[in-house]
Amino acid sequence: TPPELIRNFCIIAHIDHGKSTLADRMLQLTGIVDERAMRAQYLDRMDIERERGITIKSQAVRMPWESVAGTADAAGPRGKESQTFCLNMIDTPGHVDFTYEVSRSLAACEGAVLLVDAAQGIEAQTLANLYLAMENDLEIIPVLNKIDLPAAQPEKYAGEIAGLIGCDPEDVLKVSGKTGEGVEALLDRIVEVIPPPVGDPDAPARAMIFDSVYDTYRGVVTYVRVIDGNLNPRERIVMMSTKATHELLEIGVISPEPVVSDGLGVGEVGYLITGVKDVRQSRVGDTITNLRKPAERALGGYRDPRPMVFSGLYPIDGSDYPVLRDALDKLKLNDAALVYEPETSVALGFGFRVGFLGMLHLEIVRERLEREFDLDLISTLPNVEYEVTMEDGTLVEVTNPSEFPTGKIRSVTEPVVRATILVPSEFIGAVMELCQSRRGALRGMDYLSEDRVEMRYTLPLAEIVFDFFDQLKSKTRGYASLDYEPDGDQDADLVKVDILLQGDQVDAFSSIVHKDAAYAYGVRMASKLRELIPRQQFEVPVQAAIGSRVIARETIRAIRKDVLAKCYGGDISRKRKLLEKQKEGKKRMKMVGRVEVPQEAFIAALSNE
Ligand code: GDP
Ligand code: MG
Repeated sequence: TPPELIRNFCIIAHIDHGKSTLADRMLQLTGIVDERAMRAQYLDRMDIERERGITIKSQAVRMPWESVAGTADAAGPRGKESQTFCLNMIDTPGHVDFTYEVSRSLAACEGAVLLVDAAQGIEAQTLANLYLAMENDLEIIPVLNKIDLPAAQPEKYAGEIAGLIGCDPEDVLKVSGKTGEGVEALLDRIVEVIPPPVGDPDAPARAMIFDSVYDTYRGVVTYVRVIDGNLNPRERIVMMSTKATHELLEIGVISPEPVVSDGLGVGEVGYLITGVKDVRQSRVGDTITNLRKPAERALGGYRDPRPMVFSGLYPIDGSDYPVLRDALDKLKLNDAALVYEPETSVALGFGFRVGFLGMLHLEIVRERLEREFDLDLISTLPNVEYEVTMEDGTLVEVTNPSEFPTGKIRSVTEPVVRATILVPSEFIGAVMELCQSRRGALRGMDYLSEDRVEMRYTLPLAEIVFDFFDQLKSKTRGYASLDYEPDGDQDADLVKVDILLQGDQVDAFSSIVHKDAAYAYGVRMASKLRELIPRQQFEVPVQAAIGSRVIARETIRAIRKDVLAKCYGGDISRKRKLLEKQKEGKKRMKMVGRVEVPQEAFIAALSNE
C-alpha cells in the first residue's frame, strides 16, 4: 500500500469507556469480520486464546475503508473519486505500569482517537495518555461514546475535552459503539485528519517494535511499524540494540486473523516471526534493520525495562521451590520486564527476589504463577529501590530492606512519581489530606469544568505502592482516578526498622520507612507477632529496632507445653499418634534463634496488612 493511503491510529480510552465495543463496530463496518463471525469484543477474545497459546494476539488490525476524504477531491460529493484507504488500528495497553509500552504504541501512530464515555467524562488514565499522545505530536480526534445512554451529558463533556485539547466543542464527534451511530463518520474523520505516514522507501530498512508476544507454537511474534525502507521474508534482520541477527521466517498483517504478506513497506504495520523463543530477544522500542544493508542509526526512544517495585516470592510449601523456579523461567519468555534472583529468608525459606514495573505487574505475575502453575505463594511487603550513600562515599543499591547497610550513612534517595488525580471538586480537601500524609507535594491544580479538577502531585513511589489507590477511592466515594509516572529520585529521611525475636532479626519483616513512620511500624509489627506466635517454653521478647536502638517491645509469655501430659500414660497408640502429629507440625516450624515459629504466623503477619 502506498503511504498516502495508510492511516495509523490508536484508541485512547479509560477502561469500560467502550474501546472494545467500538473496535467491534469498526471491524464490522469495514467488512473484515462478517455478520456471522461477529461476536462481542472480537479482539479481546483473541487475547484469551492467546493466553492459552492458540492464536496470535491482534495488537494491530488492518482494515480497508473506502472514503473520499483525504483525497485531492475531498470537496467532491461522496462516492465520486473515492479511494480505499488502509487503516491500522494499534492497541495500547491500559495501565500506568506499562507507560513505556504505551509510549511505543503511540509512536507507531500518526493519530489517536480520544474515546470518552459521555456519561463519565475523561479520567486520569486517559488524560495521561492524551498528554503522551500530544507530546508525540499525534493528531487527536476527540470522541464521546455511549451517546445512546440516558445519563449521557455530551454537551458538558464536549466542553471539558475542548478545553483540554484546545478545539471547538462542536468538533467533538458523538458516537455509540453499541448502536453503531456515528462510527462511519469517525472512520471518515480518521482518513481526513490523520496525516499519512512519511518515510524514505529507498533508505535502509528501519522498523520499530511496539509489542512482542510469546506464542507457545510459533515462538515470539513481534509487532512492528516500518519507518523507512522495507522488510521482506527470508532476509536476515538485525536487532539494533543488541546487534543480534535473525532470519525472517514469516511476515504479515493481522486482518483480523494473521495473513502472510510478501513484505512490509514505509508506514505499514504488521507482525513478524523469527523463531526466537524469548521476548527479551525482540524488545519493545528496539529498531529492526536489514543485515545486508543496515541502517546507521536506530530510531530514538529505546529504553531497557526498569523494575520499580520489588518483592520476595516464596512457595508456602518449601518443596515447590523448583516448580516456582521453572514457572518464573517460563513467564520470563513472555515478559521482558520480569527480573528475579534466588533469595533465602530465615522466616520463609528459599524463594526469589522479583522486580516488577509496578503493583499491577506484581499482581498479574503472582496470579499467573498461582493459576497457571498451581503454586501457593507468599510475597513479602513490596518495596522500591533505594540508593544509600555512605559517609565514605560508597554507593549501595538496596532492593531488599534486609540489605540496607549498617554504619555511617550520609544520605538515602528513593524514587518519586509525578501523579495526576482527577476528582470532583468537593473532594479536593480529602485528596490533599491523603497526599500530605503520604509525603506528597502539590505541583498544580486545574479545573477541567466547574465541578472537576485535575490535581498534580509529586509523591514517593513507596507511598503509592502501599494501598494508596484504595485509600484514594474510599476517601472520594470512588470518584477519583489516578495516574502516575516515574520522575527520578529524591533525598529522603529514611531508616530501616528491624524486627527481633529474642534478639534475633527476622529478615522478612525488615522495612525501610520514613523516620516519622518508624515508630508506628515497629509497634504494629511487634504487637501483631505477639498475637500470632504461640507461647514457647521460655519468655520471648519481640522488639522493633532502628540499628541498636529499640523503639518498641512486646513479650510472649512462657508456657510449658507437653502434649503427652493429657494422655495419663494410658493409650499407647493415641500417644504415638500425637507424637506423629507434633512431628508434622514441626516440619512447618521455622527456627529464629531458639524460637519456634509456625510458618503460618509469618504468612499472617505479612498478608493482613
Ligand atoms: P473497554 O473496557 O473500553 O474495552 O469497554 P467495552 O467495550 O468492554 O465496554 C464496556 C461496557 O460498556 C460494556 O458493558 C459495553 O456493552 C458498554 N458499552 C460500550 N459501548 C457502549 C455504547 O455505545 N452504549 C452503551 N449503552 N453501552 C456501551
Ligand atoms: Mg476492552
